[in-house]
Amino acid sequence: MRRAIRLVVFGRQGAGKGTQCIRLAEHFGVPHISTGEILRAAVEEGTGFGLKAKAYMDAGELLPDDVISGVVDERLRKDDTRQGFLLDGFPRTVAQAEALIDMVGEEGVDLAIDIDVPIPVVTQRMKLRGRDDDTDEAIRVRLETYEIETRPVLDFFDDLDKLAVVDGDGTEEEVFERIVDSIGRHAAA
Ligand code: AMP
Repeated sequence: MRRAIRLVVFGRQGAGKGTQCIRLAEHFGVPHISTGEILRAAVEEGTGFGLKAKAYMDAGELLPDDVISGVVDERLRKDDTRQGFLLDGFPRTVAQAEALIDMVGEEGVDLAIDIDVPIPVVTQRMKLRGRDDDTDEAIRVRLETYEIETRPVLDFFDDLDKLAVVDGDGTEEEVFERIVDSIGRHAAA
């Protein structure tokens, strides 16, 4: 049987993280756990929790660390995660990263992958995509928020010797292959 693989994936907006996460989860046969998707589903269902989450999401703010960590803890207790998992969108803060380690232990995360695309490249991609909220200013603020909030989380995994930075500048296929290679190298190490 294939060894369970437990991954955490990071990337700036416009780095192609969503697409790569779907492909990687399929490739490794593990559940793709996206906190954004879990929250959007709760909003859709109109649960009390969903309504509370919506207020944060609409304001573009992060949910409190204990709340989102509770959501992930519950999800990771499901049987399907015995085959491993791929976390997408969590942890977003160092407190969340610490909560994750409390849930699964240091050995419970194999690798954190940072899909690295330089700021000028993602800026250009977002402009080409042309969503209404992709104004120069909005793009700049989102990228700045990512640097401030996520950089320390990447450092957290780097300190554990569990960070792989993968060059995300290339075609979807090229980047996918680089990520799979990188995971293979770390698994063999
Ligand atoms: P996403 O699709 O990952 O960008 O998530 C959409 C929204 O859900 C975010 O803007 C946050 O409001 C909320 N959210 C998702 N993941 C987290 C997280 N790990 N911590 C706090 N809030 C989150």
